[in-house]
Amino acid sequence: MNEQESDIRMDYRTGYYSIIVPGREHRPEELEIEDEGSKNLKNCPFERDTVDRKNLEIMHVNEPWTTMVIKNKFPELNGSTPLDYKKGFFSSISGYGYNEVIIETPNHFDKFEDMDTKKSIEWLSAVIEREEDLYSRNYIKHVMVFKNSGAKGGASIGHSHTQIIAWPEILGTPKIEIEKAIEYKNQNYSCLYEDSIKKENERMLFETEKIAAIAPYGSRIAGESMLLPKRHVNYLLDLDEQEKEDILEALKSIIRTNSKIFGKPSYNFVIHENKNEPDYHLHFEIYPRLADFAGIELGQNVFVNTITPEDYTKKFKDNLLFT
Ligand SMILES: [Zn+2]
Ligand SMILES: [Zn+2]
Repeated sequence: MNEQESDIRMDYRTGYYSIIVPGREHRPEELEIEDEGSKNLKNCPFERDTVDRKNLEIMHVNEPWTTMVIKNKFPELNGSTPLDYKKGFFSSISGYGYNEVIIETPNHFDKFEDMDTKKSIEWLSAVIEREEDLYSRNYIKHVMVFKNSGAKGGASIGHSHTQIIAWPEILGTPKIEIEKAIEYKNQNYSCLYEDSIKKENERMLFETEKIAAIAPYGSRIAGESMLLPKRHVNYLLDLDEQEKEDILEALKSIIRTNSKIFGKPSYNFVIHENKNEPDYHLHFEIYPRLADFAGIELGQNVFVNTITPEDYTKKFKDNLLFT
């Protein structure tokens, strides 16, 4: 694509459209964001001595703790709310569900992407343990794990943490992705995500025998990537040990490489999976937060992406930092 040309691309995972408009990306130096949150050690509620263990703790690993899971002090959903559906012109579901926070480290300035292999396995094991428990509870149909990092990523606390939200329904993008995966399988007798690995050569960031990382054709966000096991797995618990290790090392590599390319941007990652949907294919989506959402995004749910996935792939390969 020339600098003047743009593409309106469909994301094969969701059917969402994006405008890919190259040549307008900001230079990294314009994007350097000072993370106010990480400086604010004094008022941090996630320190070893300040975390509210009496009221909030769910579990911890090691003594003294090195990973702790707590209830979110300001939950969007609450497990003591009776599950209730209202149908009609005004439809709603009562706010039944669970919000938890994984404090990844007791050290305020440690970063997720700098964890060693053992520590990241400890994090993943805590994620899986919590997912297993939440999926076993009444009416829980979807557990989503995600990370907000930096002010533009929506993090209100700088201390490295991951969030878990357990829903009484599968809603939003995961619902759409599951429907698309099933539709694709019915039409093609194969898995959409495994086929994406075969077809995304041009946008392959890197791969090992077990996993692949790609910049999806219809990426909504500049620098967006998807990380997935090559084998069909729909739930984290079902990954084998090598797949887990490769995915964790790749995830940290992607975050570190994006930091180098874009100047330490805020970011989010989400884990798309579902224990009870065998046709879904587990994948991580990683979004550096370079641009704000504006009228097109909010008004049309069409995203403007200023770096073509092909350009991002090239930049990524030129700057790839392994852990
Ligand atoms: Zn802290
Ligand atoms: Zn698959």
